[in-house]
Amino acid sequence: MKITLVILLFFFTTQLSAQHSLVFPEPVNVEQTTDNFVFNGLLTVDNTRIPSDLFSYLRELFGRQFIHLEPASAKDDATIRLKQVQTFAYTEGYQLSVTHTGIEIQYSSYASLCNAFQTLNQLIQNPKELAGIRISDQPAFAYRGVHLDCSRHFFSIGELRKFIDQLAKLKFNRFHWHLTDDQGWRIEIKKYPKLTSVGAWRDSTLIGHFSKQPAEWDHTKYGGFYTQEEARQLVEYARIRGIEIIPEIEMPGHARAALAAYPELSCTEKQLPVAGTWGVFDDVFCSQEKTRTFLKDVLDEIIELFPSQVIHIGGDECPKINWEKCPKCKAVMTQNHLNTTHELQSFFIQDIEKHVNAKGRTIIGWDEILEGGLAPNAQVMSWQGMEGGIAAAKQKHRVVMTPTSYCYFDYYQSGHPSEPLAIGGYLPLEKVYRFDPIKGVEDEYKQYILGGQANLWTEYLPTIQSVEYNAFPRLVAMAEVLWNKSSVPYSDFVEALSSTYLPQLRNDGVRFSTSFLDPTLQIRLSKSGAGYDLIKPVNDVVFSVNNEIVNGIDIERTDQVGEHRYLIHSNIGDQELRVCDYTFTSHLALGKTVRFDTQPHEKYNHNGNLGLTDGVVGKKPWKGNEWLGFNEDTVRFTLDLEELTSFRTIRIETLNDPGSWIYRPEKYVIQVSSDGKKFKTVAKSKLTGDVIRVTKKMKARYVKVTIYNNEFIPQGQTGAGFTPWTFINELILTK
Ligand SMILES: [Zn+2]
Repeated sequence: MKITLVILLFFFTTQLSAQHSLVFPEPVNVEQTTDNFVFNGLLTVDNTRIPSDLFSYLRELFGRQFIHLEPASAKDDATIRLKQVQTFAYTEGYQLSVTHTGIEIQYSSYASLCNAFQTLNQLIQNPKELAGIRISDQPAFAYRGVHLDCSRHFFSIGELRKFIDQLAKLKFNRFHWHLTDDQGWRIEIKKYPKLTSVGAWRDSTLIGHFSKQPAEWDHTKYGGFYTQEEARQLVEYARIRGIEIIPEIEMPGHARAALAAYPELSCTEKQLPVAGTWGVFDDVFCSQEKTRTFLKDVLDEIIELFPSQVIHIGGDECPKINWEKCPKCKAVMTQNHLNTTHELQSFFIQDIEKHVNAKGRTIIGWDEILEGGLAPNAQVMSWQGMEGGIAAAKQKHRVVMTPTSYCYFDYYQSGHPSEPLAIGGYLPLEKVYRFDPIKGVEDEYKQYILGGQANLWTEYLPTIQSVEYNAFPRLVAMAEVLWNKSSVPYSDFVEALSSTYLPQLRNDGVRFSTSFLDPTLQIRLSKSGAGYDLIKPVNDVVFSVNNEIVNGIDIERTDQVGEHRYLIHSNIGDQELRVCDYTFTSHLALGKTVRFDTQPHEKYNHNGNLGLTDGVVGKKPWKGNEWLGFNEDTVRFTLDLEELTSFRTIRIETLNDPGSWIYRPEKYVIQVSSDGKKFKTVAKSKLTGDVIRVTKKMKARYVKVTIYNNEFIPQGQTGAGFTPWTFINELILTK
């Protein structure tokens, strides 16, 4: 005993607090030592302590690192020594140490054992030696989820297995399987065969973004479904890897695929096709008893297939327009003394909940299930922000936080022109890393926040490669958030990510984005126009234009509109990451300051006071940054040209993207002034197209612009009842 102590003290130990170790997500406590373990590509373990299916998986996992994992011939000569303990505060925690005598793992549960082996697997840098280390680790959150929409696009079981392998490496423990939606029903239900023979297939799919007019269609039959046997096998595959699958059956909205199969379950009973376009549809499940019985039958088969404690019942985006007119729905309301259709939805969900609870399971639903009263035992998945989740936690309901602004991985991860088409939004890697699932939650309610989840909606992700591109590396950041609350500084995280984790993804044949290695363009004041510094995300990256290394770009102010294109190559060593294509627009107001009476929303305030004069003109389709976004019905700001200036045109472009709740403004007023006090109106008009344009001879120092939008988004439109977003891109002046 004494000798061991002496040896331990003798070996050099460093505590890594700031830097990121080799393990993703970063363990809570890592001490590196020089007490290395030398071996010869063979690790032995007492396999009587490991379930045989887990052992087979681990052999395959380690095999990919050229390590043979074998059963130890005798219990005492194993190189990986396993010790089960009952002392960890969290059931998923573990301890792992590497010394010259081998590897010791202390674990408390199956999940804990899985986590320890995932850590060990990532520690292996070469098949002959392991660096000395002591790790003690446990997750910050019990629920660490990833969602995948398999309705809008369908992915094979083989593709899902590969995806789940990656989730296991990052210690996610829930896979939320979105199995039904308007565009396809994906799970075999024996009692209702038409759900898959009819509901799993659509005749045609929209091409391009759904805001694009006129709409184009591919006129190609598309679909597929999972048999119950396949679903059962995937549940088992995930379970072995420490992941529970939570199935989602959407109700009462997002039901078009089911209604195409069984139109008698809708209010109108009209025969409609499986939807081939995206968005929210008025045709939803009727609230009549017949429909609820159908859904209970479906859930009975789902509960048989999926052992998860919670069953997801959707509950989001259910327009009530058909319910309002439907005699069957009205009868349900009268019979049950319900005053509003929100109460009717609440009644619907509570009826389903009773059925699910009777089978010993719990329902979870999107935060709309709060409207009209939350079902007594329901858990809430908060997507429209954190507020719904906080409200549910205050009612002592369990919550999974998945707000769009941090968790929607169908959003753009960069504004780069080469980014593939996405639904909209902007969620770069760094923002995911800053996610905090308990932000704004009062201490006494934090216990109800189970954790968080990344959501991958697939309207614009037609292949598993496109899913991977949107998922990675943002899922690595999400794993860090949910495991250790992103304890390592972001700059250290991305250094380690680019040097350690991306090569692993490449080895595993997983597609990923390098957009986080693009330069960040930081605007600086320049007397003659606009200047940009190119900020490096990691030390090793180098930027060049025309083979010359550059650290910045300068654009000169001009009387007429000029376009300046730069192809910035980014490299690490001799590996080219990608070429970023930037176009800057010069004009008369370039680099002049704008004072905002209405502040841009903090999410969309690119370049602050220079956001409208930075030469960066937001493009269409919108990719999340570049545009300034306002969430108020009146937007007012004033440009200061610093001296009396003659000009002939003023031009501002606006955006219309109803899917993102961004609506073209209604009208505008433009005024000019030479002293900033007395303003003269030069234009006052309704907006007909997307562009505000004034052409006349003007001479002024100040230009004041007021833009009016609707107070609320009108009924029947996406986001109805909320304040519309107003987006504008650049205030362009020319002579
Ligand atoms: Zn109805």
